[in-house]
Amino acid sequence: MTACLLCGQEQAEQLDFAQLLLPFLLKGENASACGQHLPQPGRLCASCQANFALIGPVFCPQCGRKQATSERCFDCNKWQRVYHGQVLLNHALYAYNDAFHDLMVAYKRYGDYALREVLQVLVAPALAKMDYDYYIPIPTSPEHQAKRKYDTIQAIFADLVPLTPALSKLPGSQAQGEKGKRARMEAPQKFVLNPAFSGQLSGKVLLLDDIYTTGRTLYHARDKLLEAFPQIRIESFAISH
Ligand SMILES: [Zn+2]
Ligand SMILES: [Zn+2]
Repeated sequence: MTACLLCGQEQAEQLDFAQLLLPFLLKGENASACGQHLPQPGRLCASCQANFALIGPVFCPQCGRKQATSERCFDCNKWQRVYHGQVLLNHALYAYNDAFHDLMVAYKRYGDYALREVLQVLVAPALAKMDYDYYIPIPTSPEHQAKRKYDTIQAIFADLVPLTPALSKLPGSQAQGEKGKRARMEAPQKFVLNPAFSGQLSGKVLLLDDIYTTGRTLYHARDKLLEAFPQIRIESFAISH
């Protein structure tokens, strides 16, 4: 028996077919290289899982936001102007509802590391279908990492895909969630290339983040990577929008 991490309900161990196939769906060499701690489905019971709402079928074709039409949204139109048409393609999975908000508050504000497993259960099937050359996590600020003792994004994704931590966040950069929307959209660049990263990037790159709000963070991450590696193609993935 395993207990659901959100409600504590005991779950009978059950092997579902998708879970059995997951190690094979995850890209071959990587599946062994990153030590695959695969999410246990019983860590999130069906009734808790039902509180998380998948986006779709209608969403912004550029950022994945759930909305009433398939037109590009207001924010993406703004980025279209700012970036002269070079809009970022973002893949988003879950609508940002109360259940997702509460999960992220517990995970990030209260540092409940165990909840990464819930997030892994939520994203693993979608990530298993993705095929990129590099997966680059959006870094946590040094202050937040020191406070929580772990990097919130890496803790979710490191078990699922091979990560290339090519970016670092400058100290003293305030978290996006603590600002208003206008201030977030105008926030200055706060990423640098990770001094510990000396490799090369080529081909298709997927940026990994937890929540897409205005897109500012992901566009800044893309800007910084393109400065050093102008040939790469960058898309992004956010668990929630
Ligand atoms: Zn539950
Ligand atoms: Zn959009």
